Amino acid sequence: MWPVAGRCGRIAASARRGTGTARLARMRFVVGLFCVLWLALVVRAQDSSATCRICQTHGSVVCGKHGRELAREQSPTVVHCSVAVECKVCAGALANDCKQCANPTVEQSLAQRQKLGKEWLAKRRQTIDALTAREPFHHLATPHFDLAFTLKPATVGKDKLDTHARLHLFGERLETLRATFLQVLEVPDADLPDRCTVVMNEEPKDHGILGPRLTGLGTANSVGLKLMGPEYVFSMWNDKRSLPDDEAVHRNLVHNVTHLLLSQMKPAMFLGNRSHGWIDEGVAHWFEDKLVGKCTNFCFEEVLMMPGAGFKGGQWRPAVRKLVDEGKAVTFAALSSRNTDQLTFVEHAFAFAYVDFLVTAKGGAKFRDLLRLVKSKTETRDALAKVYGNNPITIDGEFLPWVKANYALLPK
Ligand SMILES: [Zn+2]
Ligand SMILES: [Zn+2]
Ligand SMILES: [Zn+2]
Ligand SMILES: [Zn+2]
Repeated sequence: MWPVAGRCGRIAASARRGTGTARLARMRFVVGLFCVLWLALVVRAQDSSATCRICQTHGSVVCGKHGRELAREQSPTVVHCSVAVECKVCAGALANDCKQCANPTVEQSLAQRQKLGKEWLAKRRQTIDALTAREPFHHLATPHFDLAFTLKPATVGKDKLDTHARLHLFGERLETLRATFLQVLEVPDADLPDRCTVVMNEEPKDHGILGPRLTGLGTANSVGLKLMGPEYVFSMWNDKRSLPDDEAVHRNLVHNVTHLLLSQMKPAMFLGNRSHGWIDEGVAHWFEDKLVGKCTNFCFEEVLMMPGAGFKGGQWRPAVRKLVDEGKAVTFAALSSRNTDQLTFVEHAFAFAYVDFLVTAKGGAKFRDLLRLVKSKTETRDALAKVYGNNPITIDGEFLPWVKANYALLPK
């Protein structure tokens, strides 16, 4: 504004003098005015359409409050995280509006993301936190899981992870399990249509309240509770006697959430109480072994009271090989007549080995076909014939040599 005012002052003086210099002054005024207007236009153009040096014309700037955690929050496995939603600067949008330039579309999408995050967290607090009188839970929404979490910091590999970092790690582990399940069994994504709720409690009293409330099952003294349809829920607490470290908790999670996925897989049905205990437990053990290296979880806590608990340290292949060599193998006919809660330790190991044989030697797609048939209430005998051209007696004749050829007597 100053240059314009200055020139105005000067032209007024020239006019008063009424000399020939008045015309010159007027021209200088017009040219000056034009220059100022042009400059103003250039500045405005730079602000709105050319590159904004603050945000590179994205319209938003990455939120500086998340530091090294930013990449974790931006991962495709994260839909919402309670810690991010509670960020005082970005409220979970992970970016803030650029003050230097205007971009209404970006502003709208930031506001929308903040709104969704706020609504999501309020609902989680109402569904989970409000039932217990503890410090707030950490919550994470991934594409397919709702995870509520109070586990303490722990060492994972060489890293010490705080509760928030562990929350994200378990979110990734859940999505990895689901993706592996789909891939191994060649199941289309649409055949696992439901979200799963997973609650991982540090304290038994929180699980004691939440487990029964969310699943409608069990007693306050359980270590873990599952609801396997039409909603899918797993709640547990970190009993250090059976789950001494992060790896043990991970294995426990894989075992139990595999049960949820197996039940949910279309057509939805829990197999454990229809003489298909070997499938129900065998599949859960198989994914436990595949993703975390051994089998240490049994769904019925009574099994843990039996002598020999922690069967062979969870390394079941050598144990199965030894029993096969000694002629003590459990027959398929016997195995396929039991419910989950009727299986002994040794039968758990053979359930695992039979699933291993069918998935590894015959392929995931065929096993998926077997699952679809038994879930549609086809008798095991008919399903075996249809998928494998076998029956409950002849299948042992293929299984036993396969064990001898593929299982070593000593653990790897
Ligand atoms: Zn900008
Ligand atoms: Zn987070
Ligand atoms: Zn932030
Ligand atoms: Zn189980």
